[in-house]
Amino acid sequence: MTTTATGRFPGYGEHAPLDLTDLPAAASRAVVSRLLDGTFDAFSDAAARVGNCAHPIRLVGSSTTVDAATGEIRSSFSSTDAPLGVLLRPCGNRRADVCPACSRVYARDTFEVIRTGVLGGKTVPDTVSRSPLVFATLTAPSFGHVHGLRDKGAGRCRPGQRGVCEHGRPRSCHTIHPAGDPQLSAPLCWDCYDWTTAVVWQFHAPELWRRFTIALRRRLADRLDVPESRLKHHASVQFAKVAEFQARGLVHFHALIRVDGPDGPGSTAPVDGIDLADLVRQAAPAVECTAPPVDRDDVTRVLRFGAQLDVRTVRTGLASVDDSQALHPDQVAAYLAKYATKSTSTDPSSPSPHLARLDRECRYLAARAATACRPDGVEPDEYTDGCACGHCIDGPYRLLAKWAHMLGFRGHFATKSRRYSVTLGKLRRARARFQRLREDADRDGRTLDTADLETRLLADDDETTLVIGSWTYQGSGWLNPGDKTLADAAAARAREYAQWRATQRA
Ligand SMILES: [Zn+2]
Ligand SMILES: [Zn+2]
Ligand SMILES: [Zn+2]
Ligand SMILES: [Zn+2]
Repeated sequence: MTTTATGRFPGYGEHAPLDLTDLPAAASRAVVSRLLDGTFDAFSDAAARVGNCAHPIRLVGSSTTVDAATGEIRSSFSSTDAPLGVLLRPCGNRRADVCPACSRVYARDTFEVIRTGVLGGKTVPDTVSRSPLVFATLTAPSFGHVHGLRDKGAGRCRPGQRGVCEHGRPRSCHTIHPAGDPQLSAPLCWDCYDWTTAVVWQFHAPELWRRFTIALRRRLADRLDVPESRLKHHASVQFAKVAEFQARGLVHFHALIRVDGPDGPGSTAPVDGIDLADLVRQAAPAVECTAPPVDRDDVTRVLRFGAQLDVRTVRTGLASVDDSQALHPDQVAAYLAKYATKSTSTDPSSPSPHLARLDRECRYLAARAATACRPDGVEPDEYTDGCACGHCIDGPYRLLAKWAHMLGFRGHFATKSRRYSVTLGKLRRARARFQRLREDADRDGRTLDTADLETRLLADDDETTLVIGSWTYQGSGWLNPGDKTLADAAAARAREYAQWRATQRA
């Protein structure tokens, strides 16, 4: 697609049809038949209502909206009234490779959740924009040397190392790896690399993060010279955190950490952003988590974050300091939100070999854990009788098989503390409310009342109406390949439009 620098978006109008090149025969037949039987507009309407979701959920049934106070029936709705005779709901998937349309909604909502915790708005007091704020990246430790880009791709990989490892492989690599080289982030020696500890670390990473937040609160209490149990009467620590998969298949945590006073978000904090950054720098390296052995052949491990720790003050919260030279809060929020929609980069069709190896390690460790009670010296894969004690099934590492596609990471990608900002749930509820208000207005032929709209949509108390319904799941996905192709193309065009608008703003 070409865009002009100014003026109208060139993707509108009859001269700019949707990109449907290489349309499979079945899809084009389906499109033609919608045009011929007059259901094309109904499809367009349905696709617009689910935001061009790639795999909408199909529901059949009906619901009635009742005034909770009077019992009066306000409206009723049946799937037979819906444009295609079936009620469609967006799939809501977070991952761009599964549903581009829904993942953008998720990314936007995540951005709003993160941004409002930095700048306020959407029920979050504007005064949070004066609270001290720190941006921190906590990393995974090294589990062996890996190939890497050096000096932004200009330098050689690992030139200075002498000799060979115990497997006879060189400890050095003189290659200048180009970007996209599948060797990048793969171990120099696969036999030296500690795959087991890497997976065990990743499995416990959410626990490490949890302990970090406790350690930070403890250090803050110390700094304020108050007992930990009384900290809430002096300050509160709030955060938004996103897990990002590195190319080597291990997560980093990126977090915005804010300190408020005792009276909730945006109340005056008893420390500044420089103190807060110091406390983060002290707390992170001290965090430990003891991981039990996978089985009796394994060892107990003490896990920590990596030595690489990046902590920056975004806002000091001091009136005397000009924070404008620091990171821009809006940019930091956008940066965090971007990671929330990235997946593991293990493209299931062709994962990089080292990521596939981590995936296998997860399954292998789960299998070992399943028969952890087996006698000494018996190899787990030769021991077909499974568990003899009846308790192995309760062991934590059994879950590694379930999380193998996540390379052992079982946490959430984006999390936040309770009082950081608005919740995703609240934003979703507001969107559903908006849709209902708009549909009601459309049906009654009036324009939507926009006075205090945002406040009304985000209000905590539920509306005065009650929705009673009975719905059955019919399936997911579009009804034919033509609908799917059109929805995907429309979603792609919407993305182009968003990009075009962003360049216009810039
Ligand atoms: Zn979707
Ligand atoms: Zn290399
Ligand atoms: Zn080796
Ligand atoms: Zn057992």
